[in-house]
Amino acid sequence: MDERDRIPCIFCGQTTAKISREDVFPKWIFEWARRRHGIKNVRHKTSGLWIGTKSKTGSTIKAAGTGGVLVRGPCKPCNETWMSALESQTMPILTPLFEGHHVELSKSEQSSIALWLVKTSMFYEAAYVDDGQRYFTPANFRTLYGNRDKAPFFAVPPYTNVYLANYIDKHMLIKPRFYPFEISGQTVVGSRVDLAGFSSTFAIGRLAMQLLTHRPPPPHNAVDTPRTVRDWSKFDVKCFPPTGAIHFPPGKHLKGDAFERYANRWLDGG
Ligand SMILES: [Zn+2]
Repeated sequence: MDERDRIPCIFCGQTTAKISREDVFPKWIFEWARRRHGIKNVRHKTSGLWIGTKSKTGSTIKAAGTGGVLVRGPCKPCNETWMSALESQTMPILTPLFEGHHVELSKSEQSSIALWLVKTSMFYEAAYVDDGQRYFTPANFRTLYGNRDKAPFFAVPPYTNVYLANYIDKHMLIKPRFYPFEISGQTVVGSRVDLAGFSSTFAIGRLAMQLLTHRPPPPHNAVDTPRTVRDWSKFDVKCFPPTGAIHFPPGKHLKGDAFERYANRWLDGG
């Protein structure tokens, strides 16, 4: 194939290398589930589905053998170097949290979790949302790539918060929730658009990880973090930006419907 006809890598923009198919949820999570819970097959989709356009971002998803959609986008070198390093760095930090163990997390471990959640959320959105309607832009992918070799703290986009909650339910391997939203001032107001934000919540085992991120506000409107209506402070610990060591699990756990309310808490009435 002529190099110019190749789809550019969603991260580094290179057209010289083969684009690989990347799992939205890495294989090690499904290996953990198999080992720990005897789960053999987990699938989000059973048939292939194309999204976006090949020429613009090269994003497509297809049914995966190991447990979910694959995003087509990163090149082979990206996939096999820094992305795979990110997975092997994060796996030993996340696994005890999936199990619901009592853990103390250092600031650098908290930053690693945050970066992993940002990357996974970007992939998840790319797999499920049409090109042009996504919160994360190609520039977001490029910025993450540009900062990949810095400490995780610096590769996480500005105006990003990550929270960890303890989720206890009968049995649930992966429960993903995500939505873009609009915020004005410090509360979510629906139609008045000052900023665009995005929240994703992934429950894996006993861990619910939540990402809240929004675009830099205009200078006159110094928005810090949107507020929720309910007080959730006993249900989670703030993992990013890190201010010191934190302990998991938090005092209260999420159960049943509380998970849905928690996932939607940045919307009106949350
Ligand atoms: Zn690449």
